[in-house]
Amino acid sequence: MALREIIKYPDKRLNEIAKPVTVFDKELEILVEDMAETMYSAPGIGLAAPQVGINKRLFVVDASPRGEKADLRIFVNPQITYKSGKVLGEEGCLSFPEIYEDVVRAEIIKIQAQNVKGEPFELEASDILAVVIQHEYDHLDGVLLINHLNIIRKKLVDRKMKQWHKKKSNAKPSK
Ligand code: ZN
Repeated sequence: MALREIIKYPDKRLNEIAKPVTVFDKELEILVEDMAETMYSAPGIGLAAPQVGINKRLFVVDASPRGEKADLRIFVNPQITYKSGKVLGEEGCLSFPEIYEDVVRAEIIKIQAQNVKGEPFELEASDILAVVIQHEYDHLDGVLLINHLNIIRKKLVDRKMKQWHKKKSNAKPSK
């Protein structure tokens, strides 16, 4: 297993529409393992393939209390088939470090997907799991946290991210 680099906003690769997974092989298994490791290491509760520069419809989530690593779920070629209710909650994103913004999501969802072997399954989710799934699902269509915000919050987040990149490049050791 290996850690992958997490792409940060405003990298254009985050805006692309990801392509369906058609081959379920060892390479896919390795990608999923790497993504899980990268998510846990960040730490985060969800990570979509486009966030590690892979243009594929696939994400991993683990919404169990932080650090427990008790509920890893893998969604390949997912389709949200049902949504109901509305919840407003604060969300972060590994592609937007140090940013937390309120986003409205459906309260309950149903999702159909395939596992890493290509076997189909269906899941009904609520609470935090439903929210994380909707967030990661967005990534597959190039939709980001910032796209859910009003124009004022958008500008603010854009500015904060510019500052974050600047701070990071200044912090690099000079060699
Ligand atoms: Zn995200």
